[in-house]
Amino acid sequence: MFNRILVANRGEIALRVIRACQELGIQTVAVYSEADKDALYLRLADETVCIGPGPSKQSYLDIPRIISAAEITDVEAIHPGYGFLSENAQFAEVCRSCHIQFIGPSPETMRKLGDKVEARKLAREAGVPVVPGSPGIVVEEAEALSVAREIGYPVMIKAASGGGGRGLRVAHNDASLSTGLRAARSEAEAAFKKSGVYVEKYIPRARHVEFQVMGDLQGRLIHLGERDCSLQRRHQKLVEESPSPALTPEARQRMGAAALAVARAAGYTHLGTAEFLLAPDSQFYFIEMNCRIQVEHPVTEMVTGLDLVKEQLRIASGESLRLAQEDVRLHGCAIECRINAEDPENDFAPCAGKVSLFSPPGGPGTRVDSHVHSGYTVSPFYDSLLAKLIVHRENRRDAIAAMRRALEEFVVEGVKTTIPLYLELFGHTNYITGDVDTTFVETYLGGG
Ligand code: ADP
Ligand code: ADP
Ligand code: MG
Repeated sequence: MFNRILVANRGEIALRVIRACQELGIQTVAVYSEADKDALYLRLADETVCIGPGPSKQSYLDIPRIISAAEITDVEAIHPGYGFLSENAQFAEVCRSCHIQFIGPSPETMRKLGDKVEARKLAREAGVPVVPGSPGIVVEEAEALSVAREIGYPVMIKAASGGGGRGLRVAHNDASLSTGLRAARSEAEAAFKKSGVYVEKYIPRARHVEFQVMGDLQGRLIHLGERDCSLQRRHQKLVEESPSPALTPEARQRMGAAALAVARAAGYTHLGTAEFLLAPDSQFYFIEMNCRIQVEHPVTEMVTGLDLVKEQLRIASGESLRLAQEDVRLHGCAIECRINAEDPENDFAPCAGKVSLFSPPGGPGTRVDSHVHSGYTVSPFYDSLLAKLIVHRENRRDAIAAMRRALEEFVVEGVKTTIPLYLELFGHTNYITGDVDTTFVETYLGGG
């Protein structure tokens, strides 16, 4: 096992990784921007290094500064968390050339899967269904129009390098396709410095169901069941649960095998997530692979009893998986809510400012992963996640009851949060009966 690693992230995930390291006896180096100088995770780390001013480009996304911090502190490995540099193949490559281990798949695997067009090709070749669409990047508008007419509207325009719900547009006709193309391209150029987009069929009333995969450096690969992330807003997840109320054991088996087929074809190692859309007719389609730990990993931890961050560290240090596929069992039901600092009255705009009171819930089966405390200032530079509230109960009905109880208990003052929205959603008949798709939240908010 490693003696000392650097955590190239901030907020709740930095705290989560540092906690796992402490339990494994690994020393930690935390990096921070000037905006995070008072952050809680810094107090738990063995060493801290300031890597620049608040804006991410000058700190958490600045490869030379992070590598310098790693070299000064003489770490053996870097854990990238999620977001920031976690899916950046070039960063993984620089780590390799500096003889620092990047805790994640190889740069080659990341390159293959980081581009959604390439990932689609790889999945198709592995016999896994993908959403019908253009064979590659569409350059000319005429090409997009002919693909859309062939597969039929509505279609989705997607940035090949996209992530975090950015670079996505739905088009219902030729006119909206042409404006959508321009919008998706410029959004992708601004966010990822790559403007390549492709077109695929929009799958109506689909659920988002994803599989957690895990592979060691010896070539063993297993999956840890699924997470249903159908409650979304602006194509970003709000609530995640495991198991999915929409999967039979047979469907789980088939989709799990498909997730492993994609991972195997990409030579996947470490932790990753294969994302699928599940249509109302039970047909599933691979959409993308996320080559990192996911925000919603705790729901998988609760139902499998595994500590996924420790598993990442064990895999990176060369240990073999201690679990075979048949040893994986899903116990009960776990649900997670992303508590964001957002103003429901102002179209969910992020709310920066001081949290005057932060009093999280507790009690049996309740877990809160958060870096926030009373007096904490939410910075405008980073995403608006304040906390992840996770409950674990024997069955879905009890989990929903526990979640409602925990949300009622959760007090956050000083900034607006998504807690009131979740209280409404968890009381909604469609959620309670498991009858939702990825448009449920927006339809609900739109008064539908
Ligand atoms: P998931 O939610 O499935 O784990 P996302 O693609 O939504 O995956 O992104 C994970 C997290 O990382 C989100 O909280 C998102 O806001 C954040 N994120 C994604 N890309 C960046 C980036 N370039 N810089 C900062 N944060 C990012
Ligand atoms: P990102 O990289 O931003 O996470 P994804 O490709 O994973 O982008 O898609 C994000 C979300 O957008 C999905 O969870 C789903 O709600 C919606 N979506 C993506 N592709 C389609 C599609 N072809 N049809 C319907 N909805 C889609
Ligand atoms: Mg996705």
